[in-house]
Amino acid sequence: MATAATAGERQEFTFQAEIKQLLHLLSHSLYQSRDIALRELISNASDALDKMRYVSLTNESQRDAGPLEIVIEGREGDLQLIIRDSGVGMSHDELVANLGTIARSGSAEFLKAMTAASSASAGSGSGRPDLSLIGQFGVGFYSAFMIADRVRVRTRSYQDQTGWEWESDGSGSFTVTPVEESLARGTEVILHLKEDAKDFGSSWRIREVVRRFSSFVPYPIRLGDGGEVLNDQKPIWVEPRSQVTEEQYNSFYQHLTHHPDEKPLWHLHLAADSPIQFRAIVYCPPTNLERLGFARLEHGLSLCARRVLVQAECRELVPEYLRFLRGLVDSEDLPLNVSRETLQDNNVIRRIRTSITKGVLDRLDNLSEENPDAFRTFYGQFGATLKEGLIVDQPNRERVAKLLRFSSSRGEGPEATVSLDQYIARMPEGQKRIYYLGGPDYASVVKSPNLEIFRRRGIEVLFLTEPIDEFAITALITYQGKTLTSIDAAELDLPDTPESEAEAARAESSESAAKEGGFARVLELFREALGTRVKEVRESKRLTDSPCCLVSADGGPSTQMQRMLKLANKDFPEVSRMLEVNPSSPLIRRLSTLAVSPDHDAFIKQCAVQLWTNAMILEGVTPDPEDLVSRVQSFMAEAAEKRSPLIL
Ligand code: ADP
Repeated sequence: MATAATAGERQEFTFQAEIKQLLHLLSHSLYQSRDIALRELISNASDALDKMRYVSLTNESQRDAGPLEIVIEGREGDLQLIIRDSGVGMSHDELVANLGTIARSGSAEFLKAMTAASSASAGSGSGRPDLSLIGQFGVGFYSAFMIADRVRVRTRSYQDQTGWEWESDGSGSFTVTPVEESLARGTEVILHLKEDAKDFGSSWRIREVVRRFSSFVPYPIRLGDGGEVLNDQKPIWVEPRSQVTEEQYNSFYQHLTHHPDEKPLWHLHLAADSPIQFRAIVYCPPTNLERLGFARLEHGLSLCARRVLVQAECRELVPEYLRFLRGLVDSEDLPLNVSRETLQDNNVIRRIRTSITKGVLDRLDNLSEENPDAFRTFYGQFGATLKEGLIVDQPNRERVAKLLRFSSSRGEGPEATVSLDQYIARMPEGQKRIYYLGGPDYASVVKSPNLEIFRRRGIEVLFLTEPIDEFAITALITYQGKTLTSIDAAELDLPDTPESEAEAARAESSESAAKEGGFARVLELFREALGTRVKEVRESKRLTDSPCCLVSADGGPSTQMQRMLKLANKDFPEVSRMLEVNPSSPLIRRLSTLAVSPDHDAFIKQCAVQLWTNAMILEGVTPDPEDLVSRVQSFMAEAAEKRSPLIL
């Protein structure tokens, strides 16, 4: 990689491959998103100052750190923009690694996201890649090449005596040279502005960008050495809620997330003084990147001890299923030198996490009542993640369950959702369970034959159509004392309703019809034909129209659940289910009549296999397609045979 390895001379390095691609993309970027370059450089300076402040408080020899600040100097006439900080600086090796040779997973992710966005541009209208996301991927520095055709970085680490200069035109390589004269501790980034970006050298432009993006940076940002301070660096989390404006909350969010313009869905400002003192601002972002196919992004919250940033992305502050939250926590009860290892079983952190979790669940509960539209947006983005809470957060299970929403057999379409509380409120008297049906999507569950008896008796059934739903509901077990029961369970324990009496009468008449024909023989032939594919074939009491349906043997997993388990583990054994056959369906009646003569045995067995196949398909599973196709063709041939070419 290095063409000359001796320190003390100019060395040339090539950029890591993905960074080259990234630089190409950035240097050809659109004019309008260029402001982010300045924002990213200020943000890097602020991070370096955070580190320096931490070092000065924990390291005896660095106690006297001098002023911690950022200076921005614009020289429009010379096509220059300079951003200087008195942060930790970089050593020779850090410079080489951080600014070019280390492969950063973020650069690949970012490129992927940008390519996906441009190829999706056909429909949405706003398919232009959103370069402003760059800071989130940890490659913000390179955005300098959006406005500069040459960049120099002069830096000296707080641990070194000598400084280094990095330089590149962003094409394929960069150089690193020792600096002869003595450099102040920290980093200076010198941008040689592109002709069409020269306005970044003007004071008004700098002022405007700083005001818009960096108003929250907790260090003074000066316009020129000793010049005016452009930002207000007051930490908003220590202020009482009533003193903080919506705009301040939003700009703090943008500062934390490196996301300009984006507004959080909601925020929560917490303050506690005992038993543990802490202040926190927690935000919910507007979109869930995991849903967009990104790797699991776990940001965690920034952790401060007495206003000093201790850890930028501390995952211990919220439980896994709330990993999408962003924000900051500051506590007086934490020592500055808490290490990552001790964080995990730190009692203060644990208590803060409990309070934040409770605060967030309360906030969501209020939101669902006060602003159902905002809640729906939230749920659409993060509902699936939240459901993990049912599985992993035993103590808060009912509270998470209260937030769930499902479409149901009562609603008109997949959008009409119901909460468990609403479900219970409209249950008919005597209903002791909450019924649900799992399946791959609304369209397939709504047609399920298993619903017939519920429709008939006016009992609502919840539709569980997200992959995680059945796991989550199985973990929940009960809600408000009502057991959650899959409607394909063998025993349904349905309440007695006026409809059930009419049903009993109907069942009697179908029974006699069945006895007349050979229904018992049909069941026998079905059993023979299906063998081990089913656990049992029996008469159905739950169907009215459909010829048959599949139900789970007691305690067995539903088909949907089996499918999920199989996805997770290929060797998961097939669990066979029961086939229920409806004697009053026209097809089964006809088969019962035919069953009296052994001539039709083969045909009835073919029907058995096909009906079982149909039932599987209705649940979203496709059994052996070749077998299916050839059987359907033989049925068609037989039917065609019976038709006459003549119109009689
Ligand atoms: P990120 O800041 O998100 O890690 P960047 O590409 O912006 O990604 O920066 C890469 C790394 O370079 C940083 O993590 C940091 O270690 C180093 N760096 C960048 N700017 C500075 C600076 N002003 N002072 C000290 N280190 C810096």
